[in-house]
Amino acid sequence: MTRREQLAANLDAVRARIDQACVESGRDPGEVGLVVVTKFFPASDVRLLAGLGVTDVGENRHQEAQAKAAECADAGLRWHFIGGLQSNKAAAVAAYSDVVESVDRPKLVAPLARGAQSAGRRLDVLVQVSLDPPGAAHRAGVAPAALRGLAEQVAGEPSLRLAGLMAVAPLGEEPGPAFARLAQVRAELLADHPEATVLSAGMSGDLEAAVQHGATHVRVGSAILGPRPEVL
Ligand SMILES: *Cc1c(COP(=O)(O)O)cnc(C)c1O
Repeated sequence: MTRREQLAANLDAVRARIDQACVESGRDPGEVGLVVVTKFFPASDVRLLAGLGVTDVGENRHQEAQAKAAECADAGLRWHFIGGLQSNKAAAVAAYSDVVESVDRPKLVAPLARGAQSAGRRLDVLVQVSLDPPGAAHRAGVAPAALRGLAEQVAGEPSLRLAGLMAVAPLGEEPGPAFARLAQVRAELLADHPEATVLSAGMSGDLEAAVQHGATHVRVGSAILGPRPEVL
C-alpha cells in the first residue's frame, strides 16, 4: 500500500465514524468538520491529505507548524494551532495560523491581536477550557469560572474573532461526562456571545462522545496518520 492509499483508507474510516456518530446523535454529518492533526508528520503527508480533500490541519509546536505552513502555502489549507502557546511566540503564531485553538490565559491575547493585525488578518480564536476537576493537577485550559473574562478580552480585540471553545477530555476519566460539562460551559458562553458557535472537541479515541455532546470540529491525528514517535 502506498502512503497515499493508507491515508485515504484511514480518512474514510474516520469520516465513517463521524457520520455514524452524527446519525446516532440525530445530527447532520455536514455539521462536524474534521481537523487532521499532522504534528510529527512531514509536509509530504500534509500535501497528500490536501489532495485527498482535507481542508483543515492542526499543529501543536510553533517551529514545526511555521515550517510546514510555509512549505505547503500553496495547498489552500486552513492551519489550526492547537498546542501550548508561549506569549513570546504568540504574535509569530498569529502570522501563519488561520485559527488559534489554545488560548487559555489573558497574557496571550494582546500579542495574538498584534500579530494578526500586522499580518493584516482577522484571526479566529478558540478559548481552550479545562475539563479537569477543580484542584486537579492542571493541564492546559482556562478554568470554566474564568472563561467569561477571557472571552470578553478576546471579543474586544478588533483583529481577533471569538469563534468558540476547544477542550481535551481529561486523562483517566470517561470522556462522556467531561464533554457533557463542556456542553454546559458552551451554552453559557453562547448566551453572552451567540456568534461563538465553534466547539472543537474529540480526538482519535473519543470523537464519538464529543459529537454526541455537540462538537462542531474534531481533531484527529493518529487514527489517520498512524502512531506518532514517542517524545522524550
Ligand atoms: C495531538 C492532539 C490531537 C490529536 O490526537 P490523536 O489522539 O492523535 O487523534 C488533538 N488535539 C490536541 C490538542 C492534540 O495535541
